[in-house]
Formats: sequence, C-alpha cells, structure tokens
Amino acid sequence: MTLTTMAERAPRWPGLAWLKSAGLKRETREPPLLRLGERDLPIAIRRLGRARRLTLRITRNGHLHLTIPDWVAESEALAFARARAGWVATQLASLAPATALGPGSAIPYRGETLRLVWEASAPRRVRLAPGGLHLGGPIDALEARVRRWLEAEARRLCLADLAEYAQRAGLAPPPLALSRAQRRWGSCSAKGAIRINWRLVMAPDAVRRSVVAHEVAHLRHFDHSPRFHATLAAIFEGDLAAADRWLKHEGRGLYALFC
Ligand SMILES: [Zn+2]
Repeated sequence: MTLTTMAERAPRWPGLAWLKSAGLKRETREPPLLRLGERDLPIAIRRLGRARRLTLRITRNGHLHLTIPDWVAESEALAFARARAGWVATQLASLAPATALGPGSAIPYRGETLRLVWEASAPRRVRLAPGGLHLGGPIDALEARVRRWLEAEARRLCLADLAEYAQRAGLAPPPLALSRAQRRWGSCSAKGAIRINWRLVMAPDAVRRSVVAHEVAHLRHFDHSPRFHATLAAIFEGDLAAADRWLKHEGRGLYALFC
C-alpha cells in the first residue's frame, strides 16, 4: 500500500522543465542521496506548495521522503535532510526487519523473550532450557522448526485452556483447531468448533487465555449479548479489558516473525 502511494505521488523534479526546454533528451534525474555509513539512501523529494514546513519521513519499507514547501530551495532542504542522517540511521535500525531467524534471534514465548541457541552438534529437537530455546541440526531450516515447535506449544496450551474453561462453563471440551488467520485471534462455528490463532502462544498467558475463554463463552451464547458477557466474566479469571488492550496495541507485533 505504501508502494502504491509512492507511485501515485511520483516526485516532481524541479529541473525537468528546464532540461526539456533546453532541448536535452534526458528525461529523468537520479534522486539525491543521503550518505549513511557505507551506503547511499535515495531521497524521494516532493514539492508541496501548501506545506508549511520541511518534512523528512521514513516509510515502513525504509524509503526516505522529503516534502519541501515551494518557498524552500532544494539545496536547503537537502542540507536539512543530511543534517539528520543520525536520526535516519536510528529510525532505520528500529524498523522491524522481516528477516529469517538465526542463532541469537529473540523469540517471543508466553509474553517472555527466548534466545535461539543453536549448536550444530546439539540434538535436532527444539527444547526449552535455561538461557533460551536450544536446537541443533541444519541451520537453514531453523525458522520452520521453531515455528513447528511454537505451534505444538500453542496446541498443548490451548487444549489445556479449553478443557479448563469448558469445565467452568459446564460443557464437554469442544474440538480445537489452530488457525493461521491474518486478522482473527479466535472463532467459534455454529457447530461449536473452536479455532485459535497459533500466534497467541507468543502473547502473555492471560491474553491467550482470554481469547480461549471468549470462544468458550460463545458455546453458551452465540452472540455478544449481555448474557454472553456475563458468562465470559464468570469463567475468565483475569482482566478482560487489559487483555483486549494488549491485543489492540501489541497484537500486530505477533506478525513480525514467521511471515
Ligand atoms: Zn465473539
């Protein structure tokens, strides 16, 4: 979406009209660059007559956009941007890169952070041990194996949650399926099948459990009526509002890994 927006807002090069009128064939101009250590980052410039100030912005993809009001010279704007190279470097470093996991990677697990400890000679099986998540075997398949381990943990934990809440609601435990939904944390079908997003294994226990409890409450009331909320409040031991807030603010972060 950001890319579309960028294409729609193709920068208008101030020098182009002059180049054309001077009879030169050159139709494009290389964008100005910002030197960052070893590399040069292109600066996409946009002239905006109604802009009241210079704006330097970094998109989520790591592109640099400089918006210049008509009354500011480009050289002045570039000096402004280049004076902020340190800030740009810091911002780029903090962008969550969708990189593959490797030794030393941080893995969120039940609200905590585990370090991935890999040793070629260690057993292949992933195991939770002091210091992090340990495994051996081929290094190129680390991510898939860690994901499988997390999914197995999600199943184990959600089955236990489900049994507990079903019992509190006076019901037999329903069947469970893990989901890989992009936007849903949980769902309950009219037939009573519950699906829980496997990524919740990375969230704090109370957050995962609140989602399971919510779906179990739907087995009693297939709506969001006051009776549904009363059932949910009766079976869930934690702070529902806090769990909802966590999902709202931190939930997207559960998609930063295993994309
Ligand atoms: Zn619901």
